[in-house]
Amino acid sequence: MGTDNKINEDTPLYSISSAARMLGVSVHTLRMYEHEGLLIPFKKESAHRLYSDTDIERLKCIRNAITQQKFSIPAIKTIYSLIPCWDIVNCSEEDREKCESYNGHNNPCWTYHHIDNCCSGRECRSCEVYKQYATCDRIKDAIRMKN
Ligand code: SF4
Repeated sequence: MGTDNKINEDTPLYSISSAARMLGVSVHTLRMYEHEGLLIPFKKESAHRLYSDTDIERLKCIRNAITQQKFSIPAIKTIYSLIPCWDIVNCSEEDREKCESYNGHNNPCWTYHHIDNCCSGRECRSCEVYKQYATCDRIKDAIRMKN
C-alpha cells in the first residue's frame, strides 16, 4: 500500500467550526485571519475550509501572539513578511527586483499575486516558505540559524 493516503499533521481534517471550538474562538475570527492572510486553510471544492493539525498549531501561535504578547494583526503580518523566501526558493535577482514581497514589509509573501516571477502559479499552502514557518518556534529557529 502506498503512503500517500496516510494521515499526518498536514492532513486537512477539521471543519472551521471544529477548529474554532478547539481554539476557543469564533468562526468569524478564523475567517478574518484567513482574510488578513495569516493562514491558508485547505479549500474543498464546495468552498468549505478544512484545517490540519499544523494549521491548528499555527493558529495557536497567532492567538498567543495576540492575546499574550499583545501583537496586532499588522504586526504579525510584518513578522511573516520577514521570512526570507528569496533564500528558501533561491529566486533570481531579476525576480527580486520586481517582487512586491521582496521589496515590501507589510504582508506575507503568500498574500501577493505573483505575476511573471518564479512564484507564479506556486500553490502557497504547499510551498516550503509557508510550511517551514508554521509556528513561532520555527520562525525563531530560522532566525537563530541566520546568525
Ligand atoms: S515571493 Fe518569490 S519571487 Fe518574491 S522574493 Fe520571495 S521567492 Fe522571490
